[in-house]
Amino acid sequence: MTALTAATTADWMRRFADVVAEQRDHLTELDSPIGDADHGVNMARGTKAAAEGIDDDAGSPGAIAKSAGMTMVSKVGGAAGPLYGTFLMRFAKGADGDELDGEALVAALDEGVQGVMDRGKATTGEATMLDAMVPAVDALREAVADGASLVDATAAAADAADEGRDATEAMEATKGRASYQGRNSIGHIDPGAASTAMLFHTLADAVAAS
Ligand code: ADP
Ligand code: MG
Repeated sequence: MTALTAATTADWMRRFADVVAEQRDHLTELDSPIGDADHGVNMARGTKAAAEGIDDDAGSPGAIAKSAGMTMVSKVGGAAGPLYGTFLMRFAKGADGDELDGEALVAALDEGVQGVMDRGKATTGEATMLDAMVPAVDALREAVADGASLVDATAAAADAADEGRDATEAMEATKGRASYQGRNSIGHIDPGAASTAMLFHTLADAVAAS
C-alpha cells in the first residue's frame, strides 16, 4: 500500500487498543516507581473507548483520528489521555485528504507532535512520550525522503520509537509526575514513551496488513 486510508487508520486505533490492553499491567508497572501506577489502566480505558467509538464510515484518516482523540481526552484522567487526545486531534488537523501518502503522513504526525509539545510544554530529553514520538516521526521522514515504501517507513518509525523509549531510562524526568522524583527518575523507562512505542508499532502493523 502506498497511502494510509480511513480503514487502515481505524485498524491502527483498534490494534493500539488491543496491544495496550495486553500490555496494561506492564505499563502500570513502569508507572509505579516514578508515578502513580495508573498509566496502563488510563490508557487501556481510553484506547478501548476510542476503538469502540470508531465510525467506519467516517471517510478519512483525519475523521477517524479526530473522534478517537476526542474520546481519549474525555475518557482519560491524568496527563496521558489529554496528551494522546491532543496528538490525535492535531494529527487530524494536519491530515489533508482521504488518503495520506508518506509525505502527508509525516505532515500529520508533525502536527500531532507539536500538539503534545504545546499542551505538555515539553520537548525532547525530558523523559516523556515525546522521546519516543519525535525520533519515530524523524525516522519516518527520513525513510520517506529516501523513497522507502510506507511499510518500510512505518517499520523504521517503530524501531526508532523503541530506541527512543529505551533512551528515557538514562534521562532525568523534568515534566509530569515523574519529575517529582528528580534524579531518582533516572534508571526508569518512561511509561508514556513505552505506550508511544506501541502506537508506532501498531501503525506499522496496520500498514503492513493493509
Ligand atoms: P499521570 O502522570 O497523570 O498519572 P499517566 O500515568 O497516564 O498520567 O501518564 C504519564 C505519562 O505522560 C508520562 O510517562 C509521560 O510520558 C507523559 N507526560 C506527563 N507529563 C507530560 C508533559 N508535560 N509532556 C509530555 N508528556 C508528558
Ligand atoms: Mg500515572
